[in-house]
Amino acid sequence: MSVRVRFAPSPTGYLHVGGLRTALYNYLFARKQGGVFILRIEDTDRSRYVENSVENLIESLTWAGLDFDEGPHIGGAFGPYFQSQRLDIYQKYTDLLIKTGKAYFAFDTPEELEQMRNSNFSENQRDFKYKRSEGKNQYTLGTAATDELISKQTPFVIRLLVPENKNLVFHDLIRGTVQVHSSDIDEQVLLKSDGFPTYHLANVVDDHLMKITHVIRGEEWLPSTPKHILLYEAFEWEAPLFAHLPLLLNKDKSKLSKRQGSVAVEDFRNKGYLRDAFLNFISLLGWNPSGDQEIYKINDLISKFDVSKVNKGGAVFDVQKLDWMNAQYLKQETNDNIAIMLKNELSKRANDNFSIEYLNKIASLFKERVVFIHEIPTIAEYMFSEPKNYEIEYFKKHWKESSYDHLCALNELYSELENFTHDELLNLTKSFSENHGMKLKDVIHPLRLAITGKSAGAGMFETMEVLGKLECTIRISHFLKISDELKNYEQ
Ligand code: GLU
Repeated sequence: MSVRVRFAPSPTGYLHVGGLRTALYNYLFARKQGGVFILRIEDTDRSRYVENSVENLIESLTWAGLDFDEGPHIGGAFGPYFQSQRLDIYQKYTDLLIKTGKAYFAFDTPEELEQMRNSNFSENQRDFKYKRSEGKNQYTLGTAATDELISKQTPFVIRLLVPENKNLVFHDLIRGTVQVHSSDIDEQVLLKSDGFPTYHLANVVDDHLMKITHVIRGEEWLPSTPKHILLYEAFEWEAPLFAHLPLLLNKDKSKLSKRQGSVAVEDFRNKGYLRDAFLNFISLLGWNPSGDQEIYKINDLISKFDVSKVNKGGAVFDVQKLDWMNAQYLKQETNDNIAIMLKNELSKRANDNFSIEYLNKIASLFKERVVFIHEIPTIAEYMFSEPKNYEIEYFKKHWKESSYDHLCALNELYSELENFTHDELLNLTKSFSENHGMKLKDVIHPLRLAITGKSAGAGMFETMEVLGKLECTIRISHFLKISDELKNYEQ
């Protein structure tokens, strides 16, 4: 049987980084097994629906390069892939459960349920378990009274009948055997009074009808799985295999939340993380194919992916590691690609008059010095315009009595240099400093200041080669002119 997996987000806003990790692991699993990767939109909870979030989800997943084989945007033989377009299907399967006695009508009003919550389980509402009250459900009412209430249009929900005293056991590919006693399972609503299914019913029906073989999803869905197992049993369907991925945590080990920083994939994209770096980082949240390697191309990830090797314990979302990863990818990126991204970045700043050839050289000078492309126009501003100011402390420290004359003489030599290349500049400056009894660095400090205005940067002679002879000699002359002023400048 061929592998079929799905990513099943609810359109509640944006693609969460945890959602991307789930989608990615499903994708890796499907591609490794030669299986099918499906997108299904679980949009039956209309109260949580956020306008445009489906488009947003698809855009973020497309940016991440996770191409689906079936889904609402590309179609497929098992559609529709929006749950809101499958209501008649859920109705049909609820009718079946009612017919076979695996589910029942319940007529408790919202107020009665609220009271039940408050009186029985006020300590911890999350542990609330529905109790069948006298006269409020098919069980205590009997068929005739139930039918009568329905014919009078009394609002109802349909609940799952949980068998008494039963041990539910299932195997999780990551967690091993999971066992839950039926007394710990709530008689969950399957169909709401508005005719919409709940997550549980729709999820199970669709996983079955879409022939899903493996359900790979976040740990937060683990408590729902026994209910799902009960539903599979009620329908007499074979359940898929389950794998529950570990939670994502903040550095302080609390659950990752937007209170502590960004969690939306689009935010990371907008911050300037490279797609491949981000995906590589996300892929290692809960799994690493080997102990000592961190950089993996997507094809490596596919060939190495093994869901049974995913960790059980929570995975820390460490932004510093993400930054490191981005820097590694930037270093490996071709200068041509960086030049194109840099051009795009500069055009955002209305600073678009640099050739790709020039930006290519800047890429090679600076790609190892930044985490993001957008830092280059800032840290290397002097590659795009002459310095507007000079670091005064640095100037005062390195500007000696003789500096003016030396720099002046050096500029003369530079202007006569035929090949304004790194090697020639280095040789010339080296012999100049030796001839004047100085160390090379004593000459480079004032030179760097004259050309860049800064105390640090990329290699001096590489920088000069890229800027070119004319630009360098003009900058040095200008600097010489204002050096007296700088001397008197108090910070
Ligand atoms: N709709 C659920 C979500 O938003 C899907 C959970 C599952 O994969 O079963 O994550």
